Amino acid sequence: MGNVSGIKSCYGCGACAIACGKHLISIKENKDGFYTPFIENTEACTDCGLCESVCSYTHDELATKNVPIISFGAWSKDENVRRRSSSGGVCYEFEKYLLDNGYKICVVRYNIQLRRAEHYIADNLNDLDQGLGSKYIQSYTLDAFSSMKRDEKYLVIGSPCQMDSFRRYVKKFRLEDNFILIDFFCHGVPSSILWKKYLNSVSNSIEELSGVAWRNKQFGWHDSYAISLSQESIKERQKENISRFSTGNAFYEMFFCDSCFNKACYSKCKFKYDQSSADVRVGDFWGNTYKDDDKGVSAVVAFTEKGKSLIMNSDIERTEHPFEVVAEGQMKSSLILTLKDKIIFNILKTDIPLKMVVTCKRVLNKIEKYMKK
Ligand SMILES: Cc1cc2nc3c(=O)[nH]c(=O)nc-3n(C[C@H](O)[C@H](O)[C@H](O)COP(=O)(O)OP(=O)(O)OC[C@H]3O[C@@H](n4cnc5c(N)ncnc54)[C@H](O)[C@@H]3O)c2cc1C
Repeated sequence: MGNVSGIKSCYGCGACAIACGKHLISIKENKDGFYTPFIENTEACTDCGLCESVCSYTHDELATKNVPIISFGAWSKDENVRRRSSSGGVCYEFEKYLLDNGYKICVVRYNIQLRRAEHYIADNLNDLDQGLGSKYIQSYTLDAFSSMKRDEKYLVIGSPCQMDSFRRYVKKFRLEDNFILIDFFCHGVPSSILWKKYLNSVSNSIEELSGVAWRNKQFGWHDSYAISLSQESIKERQKENISRFSTGNAFYEMFFCDSCFNKACYSKCKFKYDQSSADVRVGDFWGNTYKDDDKGVSAVVAFTEKGKSLIMNSDIERTEHPFEVVAEGQMKSSLILTLKDKIIFNILKTDIPLKMVVTCKRVLNKIEKYMKK
């Protein structure tokens, strides 16, 4: 038996903290900008091992051995929901269906004051709004996870590692009947240092931030890696500042260079492609099938009968496709952390402005290319 106090760069999912009967574990950001557990009062800890038993990071196997049973291309029938969601807007429709059926919904919003993504609990339709859209940074889970009541039903949506630990937690406490879990094909979770640097780099052109969207579909779904920052202005009601990956957005350039992720997103990630402990996995339906669609199509995969029933009963447009088609373009194996990645990340952690970090990254890429010749 042991405890999580020795764990440094884990998935930061917070499952250990809600499992601890003595509430000794807090979740804080480490020096790399990722959530990590801390035990303040180590003397009160009895090393009962509960925290480690629900920790995905300390297990090599997934919490479940499920395989995909059915998969679809799908989207919301509501144009507004589809436009504001990252891919086809299916998550919102699943949330809405389960809300109508007595579930509470645990999803992720962006907290402007704290500059962080965080899980929260929605128990009415209006509250679902903030959960729309992917926030491409790690979410803080603890407040929402610890406010859940064991006799109520919940839909929880999160990254695959968060959901794997959460599955262990619901199994451990025999709560499986009360929970439906959804995860997504996950590229990786970047450091909050990157996000904060990005916000600082645009702060001159922004008066007061009132909203953030990481996927703006103004230029179509296929060009939707576009960050839009809204601001309330005294003169105009609302102004929007949109910056696209395709035209050099610095956040996305760093995100897609794969050097700023959590250490646990590299070889410790065991959740790529068809490896999931959730009931349903969602993602963007890339590949050729919907290449002419510019509103957005979600990849949707059921891993359990519960997940299949959720997909079948929700009010969405859907077409069945083989899993390999639905998952076309998704990563099949975890990322490898190279020396170049480590150098880029160390540069990111200095006071150098983001623009300069991007330049350093480009130079290092050129050197790497030259060396490979
Ligand atoms: C960090 C990250 C990496 C991703 N990588 C890929 C990828 O490689 N390939 C791919 O196809 N899709 C990826 N996705 C998923 C994709 O962005 C869409 O979420 C998915 O296509 C479902 O789209 P939607 O339109 O139904 O829902 P959306 O409107 O995008 O909502 C998705 C749901 O996820 C929740 N959510 C948002 N941000 C976070 C977060 N930071 N942590 C946990 N939950 C969150 C929301 O609350 C919402 O319930 C990633 C998402 C994230 C957050």
